[in-house]
Amino acid sequence: TDSLQVQVDDEAATVHLGEKLGATLTGLLQRPGTGGTVVYLEGDLGAGKTTLCRGILRAFGYSGAVKSPTYTLVEPYELGGVTVYHFDLYRLADPEELEFLGVRDYFDAGNLCLIEWPKRGQGFLPAADLAVKVEVCLPGRRVILTAGGAGEECEFWDVFC
Ligand code: ADP
Ligand code: MG
Repeated sequence: TDSLQVQVDDEAATVHLGEKLGATLTGLLQRPGTGGTVVYLEGDLGAGKTTLCRGILRAFGYSGAVKSPTYTLVEPYELGGVTVYHFDLYRLADPEELEFLGVRDYFDAGNLCLIEWPKRGQGFLPAADLAVKVEVCLPGRRVILTAGGAGEECEFWDVFC
């Protein structure tokens, strides 16, 4: 699969990139059929995954603070017809725990799931429509975007030109 790399020089640029991604995800969410839209966010602690989520949420009209739900594992946002579930699986001890959290319905059609630390939930998460990797590349960050599933039919790339 092709990947796209975007250099973001500061925090504001990361948020802005998130907003652009969010606008594209809006289109994906409206497609008929199958399940919800799933975005994986990978990268070290402090790389900028949550910052990017803040931008994505902004594209759906949310302008408040966004904290990684490190202890609660998932934070729901009801945003004008779309429910966004922001996961942080860093503290998930065993992927099987996701079953007991009752998150299955969260992946239903029309919902957007942003999942930090998806590897911790491996085997219990749907495949990603977009995988985002954030790398520290001083003084800024490098963001690597890889489309998967329904995302592959989507013109993600247009918005970054
Ligand atoms: P993560 O969720 O990956 O642990 P956060 O988004 O919580 O990371 O924190 C990332 C940190 O990096 C924040 O302090 C933020 O201000 C900073 N940051 C985000 N994007 C950039 C960037 N493009 N350049 C420099 N610093 C950034
Ligand atoms: Mg985070």
